[in-house]
Amino acid sequence: MYLDEMSYLEVEDYLKKNDTVIIVTGSTENHGKHMPLGTDTFIPTKIMQIFNERYADECIIAPILPYGSTEDLKGYAGTISVGPDLLTEILNHICDDLFDYGFRRFIIVNGHGGNSKSIERTGLHVYKKGGLLARVDWWLIAGQINPMWKGGHGGGEETAGVMAYDESLIKKEYLNEGENMVNDLGDVLPTGTWNMVNFEGGSITIPRPLKSITDNGYMMYGMPDEPSRADKKWGTEMVETMADYIEHFLKAFRQAKLPE
Ligand SMILES: [Zn+2]
Repeated sequence: MYLDEMSYLEVEDYLKKNDTVIIVTGSTENHGKHMPLGTDTFIPTKIMQIFNERYADECIIAPILPYGSTEDLKGYAGTISVGPDLLTEILNHICDDLFDYGFRRFIIVNGHGGNSKSIERTGLHVYKKGGLLARVDWWLIAGQINPMWKGGHGGGEETAGVMAYDESLIKKEYLNEGENMVNDLGDVLPTGTWNMVNFEGGSITIPRPLKSITDNGYMMYGMPDEPSRADKKWGTEMVETMADYIEHFLKAFRQAKLPE
């Protein structure tokens, strides 16, 4: 059930038997010419829609956060980042308020890797108060459940996920665009994955805007993850699997011992 569709009395009733809440964190950022800026928000939104259709009585879902921390994708028109510090602060405030009403277990269904450190900081904040926070990175778990689903930023996995949400949002003419990576630091330090460079068999991180590395901003992480592989069937099966997985995890998480 969605928190913003409930009355405060219904929330009070829920808290008599339950102390778990799901919070969804997304992002508004470039994912390549073929993808909408809301990719990291739309896919977890779809996962939670299915969760709510199947398991509405089991857990409250708080309103989704469509802004995240995505500093290195700035520069592509429309990308908005609130930065890691403000994201932590927003999440701390959300969890503090919910904690005061009696929530103790927080499941963050996360759509964007750049949010991860902030979510972990909030997790420790919640722990110190006597609660527990779990971060569910849907795209990593989907790739662990089925290695064929594994994917990078704007690759096949996320393209399939957006197709499950709304196929009309995919710009199909750009599906075969390629990553178009450039050796922006010169050929002596060739561009690797994300902000890394390849050097004598190792990968070294040199932080720089993604816009200087690739003109379209999607990255496959060196795996077979072409967006053109994606179809709606893959996406639908994947988001349904994730909705069921989250429900199973929820049952286990409810039994986890809270900190003293
Ligand atoms: Zn993404």
